[in-house]
Amino acid sequence: MLEIHQFPCLSDNYGYLLHDPASGETVCIDTPDGPEYLRQAELKGWRITQIWNTHWHPDHAGGNEAIKAATGCTITAPANEGFPIYGVDRAVGGGERFMLGTYEVEVIDVGGHTKGHVAYHLPQAGIAFTGDALFALGCGRMFEGTAEQFWASLARLKTLPPATLIYCAHEYTQSNARFALHADPGNPLLAAYAEEIAARRTAGEPTVPALMERELATNPFLRADDPAMRERWGGDDAVATFAALRAAKDTF
Ligand code: ZN
Ligand code: FE
Repeated sequence: MLEIHQFPCLSDNYGYLLHDPASGETVCIDTPDGPEYLRQAELKGWRITQIWNTHWHPDHAGGNEAIKAATGCTITAPANEGFPIYGVDRAVGGGERFMLGTYEVEVIDVGGHTKGHVAYHLPQAGIAFTGDALFALGCGRMFEGTAEQFWASLARLKTLPPATLIYCAHEYTQSNARFALHADPGNPLLAAYAEEIAARRTAGEPTVPALMERELATNPFLRADDPAMRERWGGDDAVATFAALRAAKDTF
């Protein structure tokens, strides 16, 4: 069984160490803070062997150099970014597969937040690391991509099995919930989810990982193809509805 060690990093990132006891591999999912990752691995007694970056932003790849220098790990990162990522050994794009021990890893193109953003899906483990493409009740800002590209990315994520646990890169859920309630006020599942999120945050607990099944029913950005959302937000197709939602969130 894979183990995931989740810990807060920087102001609102999550750090993840993915450990496979059978093969001895330990993977850093993104590297917001090199020294903190090294400290957490030591606490767990795990030797870091790999880094998988989701995109080039410094709160996702800024620790690559320190971790590689300290451990000699190999770095897997998206092939199609427009800005460099330190120390890449294996550049991957959407549709590629590789192995972690006996676990298959599917690379999903989730460009839109950045041009070449990728997600890592491990179907046998029922988990996906989505970086800043998909958050609990939200999605990343559209810094480099187009609405067409970002919607296509979300449409790919929508095909993940509903039981998939979504490990996103930030604890943004409570503020995302405020926009989601504004975007989709009549959704009873969303109202219940938002209450649960508020209770968790009050208790100091993480809201991540998120269950895909729940996101499919409540995340407004994943529901841009839903007739109710189209009616409220306009647009002749899901791309246009997504664009309207994304623009509204930017100034909410
Ligand atoms: Zn980012
Ligand atoms: Fe980020």
